[in-house]
Amino acid sequence: MDEKIEEPWFQEGLKFKCTGCGKCCTGSPGYVFLSNRDLETLADHFQCSAEEFAKQYTRLVNGQLALLDRPGSYDCIFLQDKKCAVYEDRPIQCKTFPWWVYNLKGPEEWKEAGEHCEGINHPDAPTIPSIHIQSECLTYLDNLLDQNFQNDES
Ligand code: SF4
Repeated sequence: MDEKIEEPWFQEGLKFKCTGCGKCCTGSPGYVFLSNRDLETLADHFQCSAEEFAKQYTRLVNGQLALLDRPGSYDCIFLQDKKCAVYEDRPIQCKTFPWWVYNLKGPEEWKEAGEHCEGINHPDAPTIPSIHIQSECLTYLDNLLDQNFQNDES
């Protein structure tokens, strides 16, 4: 049987380049949820235990661990001088942006995501190949499962 595999709407790739504007880490309410992998990576970064890290830098939101905001703002606790202080070890949710399922649902959703992130469709942005986008989206999904089941292991 000859089954045709449907190509994603972004088969020709999508334009994105992070300008480092910091908008996604500041300003409006939002949560950076942590998976078990994130917790271990960040605890290693700070050379402490996962429990110590969680106690100092996280809160529970709907039963899931999320990073704290800087007191009195919606800025991420790790944003320093408009730069991410844990960039190499940042959470997978941040690493896989903007290749999140919702943003990739269709051209409209991608356009909408671009209203909040100047790197999306930026004139200087390279075209990211579809295969890379799909791989990042799978990482995002895999991490989502790890976030959602983290409490079942405790
Ligand atoms: S809003 Fe977009 S361009 Fe700005 S820092 Fe975040 S990902 Fe980069």
